[in-house]
Amino acid sequence: MQLPIYLDYQATTPVDPRVLDEMLPYFTEKFGNAASRSHSFGWSGEEAVEKARKQIAALIGASPKEIVITSGSTEGINLAMKGTAEMYGSKGKHIITSLVEHKAVLDTAKHLEKEGFEVTYLSPDKKGRISVDQVRDAIRDDTILVALIWGNNEIGTLNPIREIGALCHEKNVLFFTDGTQAAGKIPVDAIADNVDMLCLSGHKLYGPKGVGALYVRRRNPRVRLVAQMDGGGHERGMRSGTLNVPGIVGLGAACEIAMNELEKDAQHTSALRKRFEDKVTGALDHVHINGDVEHRLPNCTNISFNYVEGESLIMGVKDLAVSSGSACTSASLEPSHVLRACGVGDELAHSSIRFGFGRHTTEEEVDFAADQMITAVKRLRELSPLYEMVQEGIDISSIDWSGGH
Ligand SMILES: *Cc1c(COP(=O)(O)O)cnc(C)c1O
Repeated sequence: MQLPIYLDYQATTPVDPRVLDEMLPYFTEKFGNAASRSHSFGWSGEEAVEKARKQIAALIGASPKEIVITSGSTEGINLAMKGTAEMYGSKGKHIITSLVEHKAVLDTAKHLEKEGFEVTYLSPDKKGRISVDQVRDAIRDDTILVALIWGNNEIGTLNPIREIGALCHEKNVLFFTDGTQAAGKIPVDAIADNVDMLCLSGHKLYGPKGVGALYVRRRNPRVRLVAQMDGGGHERGMRSGTLNVPGIVGLGAACEIAMNELEKDAQHTSALRKRFEDKVTGALDHVHINGDVEHRLPNCTNISFNYVEGESLIMGVKDLAVSSGSACTSASLEPSHVLRACGVGDELAHSSIRFGFGRHTTEEEVDFAADQMITAVKRLRELSPLYEMVQEGIDISSIDWSGGH
C-alpha cells in the first residue's frame, strides 16, 4: 500500500491507463489538425474527434451533433450561462440557480448580475437538495434559465433533475445542469432527464485534464448560444480554437469506459464508502454524515467530526489525501459555502472532511484511512475540554461563555 492514500476523487481522478494508451499516438505520429481538410493528417485527426464525440454523446444519451468540446466544466458552465444570457437576454433577464453550486456557476451568475441580469439563489434543504416546488415558485415570466448542479461535488447530494427539467420544459425555460460529478457515475440520459445543457469534464472521470464537453440540445427545444470564444468557427461556431485532439480522444475513451463500467464502478465505490462509514460511525460518537444519504453519488461521503479542531484534524491525518469543509478553492480558510447553505455551523464545517472513493481504491486503503481518522479524532478529543464536558453530560449549549458578565 502506497502512502499517502488518495481519497480526493471529486477533485480529480488519475487517467485510466487504457485511456492513456488511446491518447498517445495523437501526440506524435497522428498529430494532424482536425480542421485541416486537404490531407490525411487532418482527416485522421477529424476522424478521431468524431469517434470521441460519439463516445461522449453515448454516455449521456445525446446525439454527437449536440456535443461541443470545451476545455472542461468551467468553460462549459461559462458558455452555457453567458451564451444563454446573451442569446435570450432580450426575452428576459431572470436566472435561477442555487447556493450549493460550484464556484464556476456562482461566479458566472455574479458576472451576469453585473451585466444587468437578476439571479435568484435557491436555498437547499439541510441535505443540500433543491425541490421542484422551489423552482416552480421561483420561475417568473422573465426567467430564461435555470442552472442547477446534478451531483454535488462537496457532499454528493443529487438534485431531482428529471422532475426539474420537466417543469422547465413546461414553463419554456432553458435548463442547464452541472453534470461534472454525475456523468460517468450515475445513469445520465439528457433526453429522458429533460436536460437542455449539461457540462462534463475529462479529469473527473478518469480522462485527461483540460478537456470537457457541453451538451447543447438540438430539438424540443433547439438551444442557441452566443459563442464566448470567437475565431475560426470550430464546433459549429460555438467554440473556436484548434481542437485538442489527444485530449478529446482521451475524453472519448474515458466516457466509453465509464459507460461500460458504470454499474461496476458504482458498486465498488459505494461498497467501499459503506465500509468506511460503518467503521467510522461505529467507533466514534458525535460524527455526522453531511448531505442526503438517500439521494447521493455512489462514490463520496462528507463527514463532520464534532469537538475537534478542523486544522488539527487535517494535520493529524497526513497519510490521507482528502479535502476539508473549508478551502475548496484556493487557500482560503472560508468555511465551505455548501455546508453553510445546508445549515452546518462554521465551526463544524471546519472539522468536516470529504472522502472520495475511486475505481482503483482498495479495501485495504479504506481500512487504513478509517483507522487513521478514528485514531486522530480520539487523540484530539482527549485534548478537548468541550468533549470532556459533553461526556460528563453537561449541555454545552446552555453554558454562558461570557463568564457571567
Ligand atoms: C470540478 C468541477 C467543476 C470544474 O470543472 P473543470 O473541468 O475542472 O473546470 C465544475 N463543477 C463541478 C461540480 C466540479 O466538480
